Amino acid sequence: MQIIAKCPTCDAGLPVSAREAPSAITCGGCGRDITLAFSEDLKADRAIDRCPVCEGSDFYIRKDFDPKIGLTVVVIGAIISGIFYWFGKDLVAYSILAAAALIDLVIYGRLKDLTVCYRCHSEFRGTYERRAPSFDLHTADVLELEYERKIGRR
Ligand SMILES: [Zn+2]
Ligand SMILES: [Zn+2]
Repeated sequence: MQIIAKCPTCDAGLPVSAREAPSAITCGGCGRDITLAFSEDLKADRAIDRCPVCEGSDFYIRKDFDPKIGLTVVVIGAIISGIFYWFGKDLVAYSILAAAALIDLVIYGRLKDLTVCYRCHSEFRGTYERRAPSFDLHTADVLELEYERKIGRR
């Protein structure tokens, strides 16, 4: 399992391997030492039961999607389609736009899910069983506030 641990001080994303399970890492952004506590399930890539960074046990699942890639496909499609439109080839223009949207859908559909910690936003990627529900705004509000109080940001 690969983890992107989020630094509680500066929000830098720090890659950590759960198999190596280091007991502490140093943030490359602000130099803060972050202690990590890995559960057995985390180390074995079985399930995500407790966040190694904030020790929270609330997670959500989201698509591992880089919005920039999706946007690039649509923008390129729109530009090419615009050129055809300019030359009066409306049908070709619309087809290209539709194709770009379709490519976007295919990319999105093939993406794997990743798990995110509600509190500290650390990300988890691996072959473990996906158990977490999808994102819930209310839960996020409550848990983020609780976490920020705990680490003294508010
Ligand atoms: Zn930091
Ligand atoms: Zn966390």
